[in-house]
Amino acid sequence: MNLNERLDKFLNLLEKIKKNLPKNPPLKQLQQSYTKNPYTTLMVTLLSLRTKDERTAKVAAKLFKKITTPQQLLQLSQEELEEIIRPLGFYKQKARTLREVSKVLVEKFNSQVPNTKEELLSIKGVGEKTANVVLNSSFNQEVIAVDVHVHRLVNMWKIVDTKTPLQTSHLLNQLIPSPHKKELNTILVAFGQTICTPKKPKCLECPIENECKSLRSL
Ligand code: SF4
Repeated sequence: MNLNERLDKFLNLLEKIKKNLPKNPPLKQLQQSYTKNPYTTLMVTLLSLRTKDERTAKVAAKLFKKITTPQQLLQLSQEELEEIIRPLGFYKQKARTLREVSKVLVEKFNSQVPNTKEELLSIKGVGEKTANVVLNSSFNQEVIAVDVHVHRLVNMWKIVDTKTPLQTSHLLNQLIPSPHKKELNTILVAFGQTICTPKKPKCLECPIENECKSLRSL
């Protein structure tokens, strides 16, 4: 099977997964836990790093009742912010990052979240995945954000052969045609959280068992 055939199979598989996703995966709970704008999306993405979406959703709902702009966040002290986001792992470091990123937005970007990859990556604390989530969901750009689920699944199906999510991100964004980039993260993250989970994949109830076998065996 050549790469184009493999990609075709993969894109069909994505459509099939999309049609068969559970109604309320953790990712959806997170997306519905706060009012979206570029700033809240950026902050939530930073909060969600290395933390389960269910837990981040509760903290996001609480935080964005109090603040919705970088200026408002900076009015909270480090300790006050830590107290709000305390249920999350690495909450002290995350509180520092949220404050530092908000400060840069106020000082360098007129309190707005920039809409280019280059500018986003120039902000200390903002990495490839965070930048791509913001560009995709806040600025409607056709770009794939690669997290651990996306990285794991596309390697399992041999769409890429990479060691890190960053390598996967670069390669996948080159390989996947634009119209399919927008939803790829949402589909695969929800699938990885609910059906093809890392420790106990539910192969017996998987809607793409045959397609999975075929891609893995070739
Ligand atoms: S068949 Fe199993 S391993 Fe393959 S995608 Fe489905 S759950 Fe994952």
